[in-house]
Amino acid sequence: MNSVDLNGIGMTSQRTRERLIQRLVDEGIRDQRVLDVMRTTPRHLFLDEAMAHRAYEDVALPIGYQQTLSQPYIVARMTELLLERGVPQRVLEIGTGSGYQTAVLAQLVPEIYSVERIKPLLQRARQRLRQLKLRNVQVSHADGALGWPERGPFDGILAAAAPQRIPEALLEQLAPGGRLVIPVGEETQFLHVVDRSAEGFETTVVEPVRFVPLRPGTVR
Ligand code: SAH
Repeated sequence: MNSVDLNGIGMTSQRTRERLIQRLVDEGIRDQRVLDVMRTTPRHLFLDEAMAHRAYEDVALPIGYQQTLSQPYIVARMTELLLERGVPQRVLEIGTGSGYQTAVLAQLVPEIYSVERIKPLLQRARQRLRQLKLRNVQVSHADGALGWPERGPFDGILAAAAPQRIPEALLEQLAPGGRLVIPVGEETQFLHVVDRSAEGFETTVVEPVRFVPLRPGTVR
């Protein structure tokens, strides 16, 4: 990768990116750490060339295999919620997809463990994360509904695909003091935040969202 790729030109230029950040602010994103990281993370590198010119629009975009790179607003919102009560040390991400959300997280949190069920997506994401020299990320080809028991417990868990009900394994692998941010539902989905304390779990329903479904098993 050369510097032109990283910095972008035309529709991927710094000015185009700045417009996106202003839009996130207008939509209510307040965490300056999140805005700063998203300002400098090259979202166009997480898309196929045919889609790259739309990288700094605030929309979800196709990444193949019927999956999408999440809308920047929702990446910002979920990351902000994950950091709200302090920076978690170890974070589990479910649904690596393009690796964009992973890259944002990796610049804000010490350790990221990311799970993806579609192998070709995971391989490409791993390559991109390596190119960007984000070395605090471990990825795994697995069903994220099972969490990543060998690496848990986690201080934060973030899911980019929606189950109909929150998988038990994710609650089990959430450390006391930890927070889970996850979309829940089928046609109508809501973003849920689950905080674990010594006493138990406390759930807050945040806002309506639209995610691809969390699917069982893995794809080679
Ligand atoms: N954050 C990603 C979002 C990708 S879309 C990005 O911005 O690119 C959600 C991803 O979740 C898809 O890649 C899909 O394959 C994956 N996924 C769905 N169910 C899963 C499961 N049970 N385990 C792991 N990944 C899953």
